[in-house]
Amino acid sequence: MAKQQPARWWTVRRAQNRKPATYRCPICDRYLPALSEHMLVVPENDSSRRRHAHTKCVIAARKAGRLPTQTEWLGSQPREAGRLRSLIERLRADRRSR
Ligand SMILES: [Zn+2]
Repeated sequence: MAKQQPARWWTVRRAQNRKPATYRCPICDRYLPALSEHMLVVPENDSSRRRHAHTKCVIAARKAGRLPTQTEWLGSQPREAGRLRSLIERLRADRRSR
């Protein structure tokens, strides 16, 4: 995880990329062909910092408690959770109305 940027929470989704590129998995540091089944790992919804990772690496990291989701992270921040959640909901509502 050394090359991974610090982030408090992550979004993980199935990669839809179908261009013939090769990435380096940020979790195991091994090569990852884009055409193989893999996942996208996005720190704090910052898609400019998204990384392609092996599905099994992501599952293992999730099980080990790394790569917490936003909801999990908020759950670990009891004093801030209510305030942040309402802020996030306000931002989402704002984005929808644009
Ligand atoms: Zn990997």
